[in-house]
Order: sequence, then structure tokens, then C-alpha cells
Amino acid sequence: MAGTMKAFVMRRIGEVGVIAKPIPADPGPNDAIIKTRTALICTSDVHTVKGAIGERTDQTLGHEACGIVDRVGSAVTLFKPGDRIVVNAITPCYKCHNCQRGFTSQCGQPLGGWKFANIKDGSFAEYFHVNDADANLTMIPEDVSDEAACYTTDMMSTGFKGAENADIVLGGTAVVFGMGPVGQMAAVGARLLGAGLVIAVDKVPRRLELAKEYGADVVINYGEKDPVEEIMKLTNGDGVDSAMEAVGAQIPLENCIKVTRPGGTISNIGYHGEGEYLNIPRAEWGVGMAEKTIKTLLCPGGSERMTRLLRLIENGRVDPTKMTSHHFSFDDVEKAFWMMDTKEDNMFKPVIHFE
Ligand SMILES: [Zn+2]
Ligand SMILES: [Zn+2]
Repeated sequence: MAGTMKAFVMRRIGEVGVIAKPIPADPGPNDAIIKTRTALICTSDVHTVKGAIGERTDQTLGHEACGIVDRVGSAVTLFKPGDRIVVNAITPCYKCHNCQRGFTSQCGQPLGGWKFANIKDGSFAEYFHVNDADANLTMIPEDVSDEAACYTTDMMSTGFKGAENADIVLGGTAVVFGMGPVGQMAAVGARLLGAGLVIAVDKVPRRLELAKEYGADVVINYGEKDPVEEIMKLTNGDGVDSAMEAVGAQIPLENCIKVTRPGGTISNIGYHGEGEYLNIPRAEWGVGMAEKTIKTLLCPGGSERMTRLLRLIENGRVDPTKMTSHHFSFDDVEKAFWMMDTKEDNMFKPVIHFE
């Protein structure tokens, strides 16, 4: 298909813009081209433009999107033009050694499952390309909106994996540090997995309010109270079974280790973009012997994962659209992007509509 399309790109570090790009050529045999309908801006897009993954020239941003299948390759059997689909931010090949070992988000190389807006053009364009379509596309159930479906691509998949990695104990205690969108979903995940007490820590009152709406039992404003002291009080001095770090910074990571009881699990979700090392608080780590586990993750992708996340929306277990703070047309994507950077007007999660 000839012709050009509008794409929202990283022109170089610190600079973005909408430019004309060729519509992606015919997909490879296993791949598909999607006509974009709805997308979400992610804080990761902002990190990328600030140089988190190095220099890029006119690379299309975006990795949280859904749309309509436009064309499929000759070997794609499960999808056809016209299907309404969503695709995870992470699109593994499912063939390489890391995929075969079960670490699909590390496809090919560390973090290699992350292809959109990293090693190829992302989804903030009128059309985008998806590799290994049968494994990575997922049909959106009729009664799930585009907007809700977009939240499965990263916020829900990442946040829920944070809770899964935290080894939530049925009736046990769990805390989430950082109530951004992924932290909110980690708290929901902890609740769905059966935690008996879910604690949410942040300093922005609106985020703590939303955490309560999403089912956090106790919220702690760390601007007012020492979260470690409060959590120890709430757990009668034991500490929690499961602590989730959804910020990506030294203090919340060490707080997670401090408040986790012996044998408990620390689940790191945050992106740690600064400094050469992170420090572990030696004493609260039980001088290396308290049997505390630290796990890390990158958003799990694939259609089986997506089907499960969509099922949770379809059956009313979670309404991710409560996180939507703004709506924009694609023409205003650049404005929305910079608001995501400054968090102006309480920007939390903006939805971009392509039609
Ligand atoms: Zn994202
Ligand atoms: Zn792979």
C-alpha cells in the first residue's frame, strides 16, 4: 500500500513532532499491519524522549494501542483484515532461546521483547507493524471498549505481574510504593490475588484517593508520615508478606526491603533510570540471611496473557478507565505528550483518539 501517514516521533533526544512517514509496506509472512484507533501515552514515552534508551532519529513513539487489522502476512491464520484487536507493549518472537526458556519479555536479548518505539517504530501513527501476529494480536471482546482494552497493553499487564511476582499470600499483607497507573494496577492485582490487607503509599492526594477507589485498605501519604513506621505499626511489627516497588528510585526500593518480613517477597516494577548502583539496607535484609526475595519484571506480552486481562475487564473485576484523566485527538498528541511530562492539570493517563 503506497502513501503516507502521520506519525508522532522522537526527532532526537528532547525533541518530538508529528511528521509524514510512508505507510508500512506489506508485512512479513508472520506479521500484520494495524490501522490505529486508540492509544495511551505512557511515562515510558517521556523517558524515551529524554534519552533513557539512547539517541533515536524520527522513530515513532508509542506502545499502548489498539486498532483494526489492515493487512496480514501469508502465514497468519488467526486474524484477518477488519478484526478489532489489541497488542501488548511487548511483542516476543516466541522462537528464540530466551522465549523458549519462558522469559519472553527478554526475547533475544535483555528487555528484547520491547520492540515498539525501541528497536522499531511504535504505535503513535495511523498504521503500525506487529511481528508474529498470531501470537501477539488479541481480539477485543465486543463489550470491552477500545479505551479499556488499551490498558491491558502495559498498565494492567505490568501492574498485575508486579502483584504476581510479589507472591501475594491469601489473606496476607501487601504494600505498593508509588500509586501511578502501574502502582494502581499492582494494588488491584494484590487484591484480586487475595491479599487480606493492601496498603498504598504515595504523596499525591488524588492518587491515594484513586487507590482507595481501587480497593486499597489503607493509604499512607509519605509526605506526612514515615511509611516504614506506619507499615510496621499496621502489621504489628511483623512487616508485610509482599512489597511492590512501582516508582523506580532508591528510597522506595529500600523501604520495600525494610518493611518485608523474613521469607517475604519484594517485587520491583519501577524503572530505575538513575545512578550506577542501588543500595540494599544491610540490617533489614537480615545481613543477607532473612530469606527475602527480590524479583524484577518487564511487562509480559502475548495473546494468552492479553486474553486473561481482557477477561478481567469483561467480567467487571477491574475498570481501568477510572485512570483516564484526559482525552485528545491525534492532532493534539504533542500537547498531550508534554502534559504527561509536566503532569500539568493533574495529567494521569491520556487517551489518544485517531478517528
Ligand atoms: Zn507503557
Ligand atoms: Zn524471542
